[in-house]
Amino acid sequence: MSTPNEPSFRESVDIMFNRAVALMDLPPGLEEKIRVCNATYTVRFGVRLRGQIQTFTGYRSVHSEHMEPVKGGIRFALGVNQDEVEALAALMTYKCALVEAPFGGSKGGLHVDPREYDEHEMELITRRFAYELIKRDMINPAQNVPAPDMGTGEREMAWIADQYKRMNTTDINGVACVTGKPTNAGGIQGRTEATGRGVQYALREFFRDTEGVAKAGMSGTLDGKRIIVQGLGNVGYHAAQFLAEEDGCKIVGIIERDGALVDDRGLDVDAVRNWIGGHGGVSGYPDGTYVENGASVLEKDCDILVPAALEGVINLSNAERVIAPLIIEAANGPVTAGADSVLREKGTVIIPDMYANAGGVTVSYFEWVKNLSHIRFGRMQRRQEEARHQLVVDELERLSRHLGDSWSMTPDFKDKYLRGADELELVRSGLDDTMRAAYQSMASVWHDRGDVDDLRTAAYLVSIGKVADSYRAKGL
Ligand code: NAD
Repeated sequence: MSTPNEPSFRESVDIMFNRAVALMDLPPGLEEKIRVCNATYTVRFGVRLRGQIQTFTGYRSVHSEHMEPVKGGIRFALGVNQDEVEALAALMTYKCALVEAPFGGSKGGLHVDPREYDEHEMELITRRFAYELIKRDMINPAQNVPAPDMGTGEREMAWIADQYKRMNTTDINGVACVTGKPTNAGGIQGRTEATGRGVQYALREFFRDTEGVAKAGMSGTLDGKRIIVQGLGNVGYHAAQFLAEEDGCKIVGIIERDGALVDDRGLDVDAVRNWIGGHGGVSGYPDGTYVENGASVLEKDCDILVPAALEGVINLSNAERVIAPLIIEAANGPVTAGADSVLREKGTVIIPDMYANAGGVTVSYFEWVKNLSHIRFGRMQRRQEEARHQLVVDELERLSRHLGDSWSMTPDFKDKYLRGADELELVRSGLDDTMRAAYQSMASVWHDRGDVDDLRTAAYLVSIGKVADSYRAKGL
């Protein structure tokens, strides 16, 4: 999506990396080792569909194996190519390091438009792609664990897990070969919403950072903030829905493939999502103004811009006109390196992709751990926790009988306090904690180092430092 005179997506990631390492004191050899992509496997395979063989091209790229398994989604889209997969794999390395998920970085992609095939055809294509990767250990619970990305979801992950199990019948940890599975097939509660939920937690943490909020020229809390979101898919939908429903934000613009909807009163995110489901796009939606040139809405007045579709959408051709004071990169690479410089010059604060959309890999990590431990989170502790809380409640009730009417418990305290945490609550709590800790590690660099004036450079400094430490510990 970037303009012709701009670097490619992978070069953009390298430029941002180089800007950060220039501020570090790494031995040159190590710097190069961390930057380069270790390996990219390209596969071309045929599937018999509609009476003839169709050939598909897929990739799995491994950026860094300083920790294993390596981790990263599989994307199904027509834009998939080697450059993109390598850029995304590099971002996975930095993302995992930043949120302390113990993985190296990887990414996969298949050049296909999933909307052109029915479910049975997609299953054949997905299983065949998975077969090619599994037989080379590029899908394996100990070595390489994919997850959903653009164009893939629970359904594809369940097919991949099943394919692995068919080919590795005695691997007791087989279900951990992929994350983002449905809960009835080894998944974890809260994975589907995780990336959008992480965007919400990231914004909440940003608005707790008064120094950061002031740097964006903003004030107050999330309540009442006007948001424009691009892409109402898995990430964009969940982020927009949670921010509107739980934080009092107004979704004043939604940009999709076929155009955009705007409404200063706030759009009903669920209603728009349902409309897209039934009509294939936003055009014709009755409750909002339709704008045919969707990308122009990126330049509209709002408090927070949430690009949640694809890379390169904010580039040298439009960066100057993007006026939102705060951009949170829910998608990977939505701002090109060139646009990043323009926006930094203008004082726009960008919450970078490697942090903003790390909720997905964080909960994938929880799912992988759950699969390897073969037990649901909370199963051992929940009733014990409730029993201990019951002791406190019994004691309070005993005291209140002595004190009479002068003291009583607030009406729903007992119910809330007694209930032990279920898996979803534990997952959300772990995700919230991760997003807060990672933000603070970036923000302390951003605020305390005189030579760092943006969150992206701060994020790179933190994550490259961690990757370098791992390599050093290995004696490299
Ligand atoms: P998705 O396929 O569920 O949704 C993408 C949405 O963007 C769709 O609604 C699609 O119609 C829309 N879209 C596509 N092209 C567009 C265009 N040109 N203009 C406007 N809208 C367009 O994908 P997703 O899983 O939500 O992923 C979106 C982004 O988030 C990607 O960059 C992906 O790498 C990143 N991401 C996803 C996850 C995850 O857990 N799914 C995790 C981390 C990062």
